[in-house]
Amino acid sequence: MKYGKLAVFTQPGEPINIIEEEVLPPECDEILVRVLIAGICGSDVHRLKGDVPGKSMGVSFGHEAVGTIERLGEEINADSLGVPLNQGDTVYWMPLTPCGDCVDCGLSNPLRCKNVNWPPPIGKPNGACFRQYATLSSKCVYIRVPPDVAPEDVITFGCGMPTALRGIKQLGEFPANIDVVVQGSGPVGLACTLILSLAGARSIIVIGDPAHRLEAATLLGATHVISLTNTTPETRSELVNDLTEGRGADIVVEAAGTAVAFPEGLDLLGMDGKYLILGLYSGSAKVLINPVRINNYNLRIIGSLGLDIDSYKKTVDIASDHGRRLQFSNLITHRFTLHQLEEALNLVGRGIPIKAVVVPN
Ligand SMILES: [Zn+2]
Ligand SMILES: [Zn+2]
Repeated sequence: MKYGKLAVFTQPGEPINIIEEEVLPPECDEILVRVLIAGICGSDVHRLKGDVPGKSMGVSFGHEAVGTIERLGEEINADSLGVPLNQGDTVYWMPLTPCGDCVDCGLSNPLRCKNVNWPPPIGKPNGACFRQYATLSSKCVYIRVPPDVAPEDVITFGCGMPTALRGIKQLGEFPANIDVVVQGSGPVGLACTLILSLAGARSIIVIGDPAHRLEAATLLGATHVISLTNTTPETRSELVNDLTEGRGADIVVEAAGTAVAFPEGLDLLGMDGKYLILGLYSGSAKVLINPVRINNYNLRIIGSLGLDIDSYKKTVDIASDHGRRLQFSNLITHRFTLHQLEEALNLVGRGIPIKAVVVPN
C-alpha cells in the first residue's frame, strides 16, 4: 500500500496540518500524478486570512501545479486538448472540477460553477497540489508539458499567467503601439507585463514594489517602473502623464489586489482607454470614482475571472518559448517543503517572494 502526505486546511487561525493518506489507484477516468512543484498563490493567503468563503472542515488546497504521471486511468490517453499522454509524462493542471453543464460553465465562467468542488474535502483523492500525489478528474484541465520545458518555467507565474492571458484576451484587438500601465508587480502584474511586451506595446509602466520585483518587471519588458511606496497618487499621475506625452494610458491593468488602486487606475487612462481588473477578486470594498470621466473619455472597464483551456496551453507555450531566454526560474525566489507550507504562506502574505513554491516530494 502506498501513502502520500498532504496539507490540510480547516479554518482561518487554525494551523495547517500535514497528514498521510493512502494513495489509491486512479479510477478509469482519472490520472494519478506525483507532484513535482506547487506554486503558492495570493489567493491561498486570502484563504488563510478568511477572505475567501470556505467550509470549516478539512480541505486540500493548492491549485498551481506540475507533476509526473504515475498512472493513467484506462479511459485516459490524452490531455485536455487531445495531445497523447503516457505514464512518465509531465502535466500542468488546474485542479478545479467545474461541471461543464450549468449556466456559469456555459458562460465561460466555470469558477462560478456551483459544482466546482473547490476546495475539495480530504479523505477522497483530488487534484489539489499541496500534497505528494494528486488525482486529476477528467473535469480538471491538464496540459502535457513537453520534456524540454522545465516545470519551474511553467509555474513561475502560477495561475497569474493563465489569469493574465484570459484577461488580456477580454480586451479584444488592440494596436501594437500602445501605452500601458500595470498596477502591481506580483505574479499577475509580471505576467501581464511579459504578455503586453510580447504583443509589442510601445511603453509599459509598472507601478509596484519591492525593488526586486520591479527589476523582474524590467527584465520581462517594462519600459518604466514606479515604486509605489516612494511616490504618491499625484506624482504617479504626473509621471504617467509625462511618459505618455500627456495622452494617458491606452490600457491600465489592475493587478494590485487593493481597491484603492481602482480610482487611481481609472484616472490614469486616456481617451478610449480600457481598464482591465484582475486583482480584486476577494473581500469587498467601496471607493469613490468620477463617473463623468468614464463617459467623456469613452472608457471601458473590463473584469475577468475565470479560466479557459487555451490560457493553460498558452502558459506552457510561453514557458517553452521564453522561459530559458528570460530565466523565469530566477523569479522563483523561495522554495519550501510541504511541512514548511504555513511559513511559506506567511512569507507570501508579506509580499516578500517574487514567487514561492512548494516541492512536496
Ligand atoms: Zn491562484
Ligand atoms: Zn458548472
